[in-house]
Parts: sequence; C-alpha cells; structure tokens
Amino acid sequence: MPREPKKQEVEKEENIEKAEEIVEEKSKVVIPEGWKPKTTLGKKVFSGEVTDIAEVFAKGIKIAEPPIADVLIPNLEREIILIGGSTGKGGGIRRTPFKRTSRMHKSGRRYRISTMVVVGNKNGYVGLGLASGPPGKHQEVIEKATNKAKLNLIPVRRGCGSWECSCGANHSIPFSVKGKVGSIIVELLPAPKGIGLCVSDEVKKLMRLAGISDIWCKTRGSTHMRINLIKATFNALNKLNTYKIKPEFEKEVGMTIGKVE
Ligand SMILES: [Zn+2]
Repeated sequence: MPREPKKQEVEKEENIEKAEEIVEEKSKVVIPEGWKPKTTLGKKVFSGEVTDIAEVFAKGIKIAEPPIADVLIPNLEREIILIGGSTGKGGGIRRTPFKRTSRMHKSGRRYRISTMVVVGNKNGYVGLGLASGPPGKHQEVIEKATNKAKLNLIPVRRGCGSWECSCGANHSIPFSVKGKVGSIIVELLPAPKGIGLCVSDEVKKLMRLAGISDIWCKTRGSTHMRINLIKATFNALNKLNTYKIKPEFEKEVGMTIGKVE
C-alpha cells in the first residue's frame, strides 16, 4: 500500500504549482485592449515578432506608440512629479501635481495646466513625460503625460562605481555623470550601498522607478525649478548611455543595462 503523502509534502507541491502559475502569467504578453498598431515596430510587437526591448534600443528604433512599451516592459509603474505649488495655509507652499500657467489674451488671462509623469520598471528602464491641457482636464493631462513618458523611455546603466563600496551589484550608477537644462546642472555620483537616495523628494521618484537605490547628487543653478531639475537629472541618466565602456570596467563595477523580468 502506498504511504499517504505527509502534509508538508502536499503543501510543497501546491507551492510549486502556484509558483509555476505566477511565472506563466508573467511571461504572457498582454496586448492592450483596442490597440491597432500603426508603425512597423508596433506591428512587429503586436504579432510577437519583436519581444525584446533591448533589441529595440540596440537598433536605435524609436518607440512611437505607447502600447509598445506596455507590451515589451510589463510592470511599468507610474509616478506623478509634483511640479505645481500653491500657497497653502500657514505660509508654506503645498506641492501639487499640476502647474498652472497663464498667458495674456485680449480678454484677460488664459490658463493651462501641465503635469509631469515618470514611468519605469524599477529595473533599468525609465521614461519622462510632460504634458499640458486646458484646466479641468486633469485625468486627460495625466494620461497624455504618461503616454509621452512611454515614448521617451531610456535604458539605465546601473552598477557600483563607488570605490568605498565596490560590491559589484547594480544598486547605484557605474560612474559619475552630469546633466544640464537651462541654468541647472545636476551631477550624479555613485554612492555605497545603504546610503539611500541623497536627492530631493521628486528626484527620488525618478531614481526609484529607474531601479537605483543609492546615489549622491550635486546641483547648481535654480533647483527650485522642479521641471528643469527633473529634466536635468533624466538627461544625466541618459548621458550614462553615451560613454564607450571597456569590458574590464563593466565587469569591475558590475554594470547592467535595463532588464525586463
Ligand atoms: Zn556597491
């Protein structure tokens, strides 16, 4: 007579089945509802001919349809950067997701709202989008900015370029780099493990979604201009991609480029 399986063994098997289900679900490509691809890349992604985002970046193909990003980088998350501000009670400035801009018209002031969105998979892919629209259309403006961010994705080179740490993991950046927008210059520097994100709160959102957990930052210029501060930081991250890197250095700092898992 075969012995009864122990309770523990049964549980284990159930766990394995569950894990397999999860893996299967993750590998399933979900095509966004109602998407009718228009570009060559879009059609290839839709048909399953192109499945690897790294290939798209390696060939330098521009992503011109937001669903391409959704399909090739599942688990994209979104954060809204608080670029607006209104004087709140008590004298402080309350930061808000929308910035109200005005221009003069012969009949008075005309207003528009703009917002900034970061998307990323917390594993080396990040995008930034800025959009504006008429007041009252908050949701539409956020969607517009999100779609722009998806078209503006970049791979992020990560690694441990900190000589104090030299752990070879991809918790920081491989080397220091500068980005500039207007008068603002942002310099990002590799930091040892455990230091955290030594940047302003809104810049933290960008770093988190890029998958960077430790970084130091030096800024110059009018950093209270949050839109330009974020843009300069994004430019700095993108600049990491422009350097030619020797394989020995790549190994030394444990460099990785964007990953999809
Ligand atoms: Zn390290």
